[in-house]
Amino acid sequence: MIEITGLVHRYGPREVLRLESFSLAAGEACLLLGPSGCGKSTLLNILAGLLRPSEGAVVVAGEDLAGLPGAALDRHRGARLGIVPQKLHLVASLSLFDNLRLAQAMAGLPQDAARIAEVLAGLGLAEHAQRRPRALSHGQAQRAAVARAVVNRPQVLLADEPTSSLDDANAEAALALLQSQAHAAGATLVIATHDARAAARIPRQLRLAA
Ligand code: ADP
Ligand code: MG
Repeated sequence: MIEITGLVHRYGPREVLRLESFSLAAGEACLLLGPSGCGKSTLLNILAGLLRPSEGAVVVAGEDLAGLPGAALDRHRGARLGIVPQKLHLVASLSLFDNLRLAQAMAGLPQDAARIAEVLAGLGLAEHAQRRPRALSHGQAQRAAVARAVVNRPQVLLADEPTSSLDDANAEAALALLQSQAHAAGATLVIATHDARAAARIPRQLRLAA
């Protein structure tokens, strides 16, 4: 489901990431660990097809990313990947429900209101479907980010520091939510974190050197 070979990434002349080989099967979960600046977000962005690596081959959900032109990469990302970004990216002028409709439309998928209702209900957000993102509490906004990431039933779910600003109970809840949503979608899950609390939950771990 994820297959990395000979990956190197540089920003300008500076090498920030080197990974000889790494693979993750369908439905597996893995933590991406290491201190701030070690390249976790860079690797997630490469897996998401948002950043082209300097060297190496990356296959995600059956697609060799290097071989995909930009538009195909966008379709691939929208239809097969779920991304929980470090900062919530919802359209401020649209309701939560319409943000999820937009996620379906951007992936070229048919409108499926029943699926949206199902996801919102599963995350305890049903009664907030018509709210704008600004009207959500921190915890609700975080669940909304997960809702947006899973609405298209992704094959791969990528989360960047989903627990960084949370207390223990909420961090635990956020991790459990990602795991249960990945499980429900049969998705491969990669969580980047420098949070040691996450390590207890997910045994498979990839530690990047600083
Ligand atoms: P992490 O997510 O583990 O904190 P990042 O992947 O964000 O690490 O960053 C890895 C290194 O690359 C850091 O030293 C960071 O400053 C640098 N970096 C990240 N993004 C860019 C960029 N767009 N241009 C130049 N350097 C960057
Ligand atoms: Mg980061």
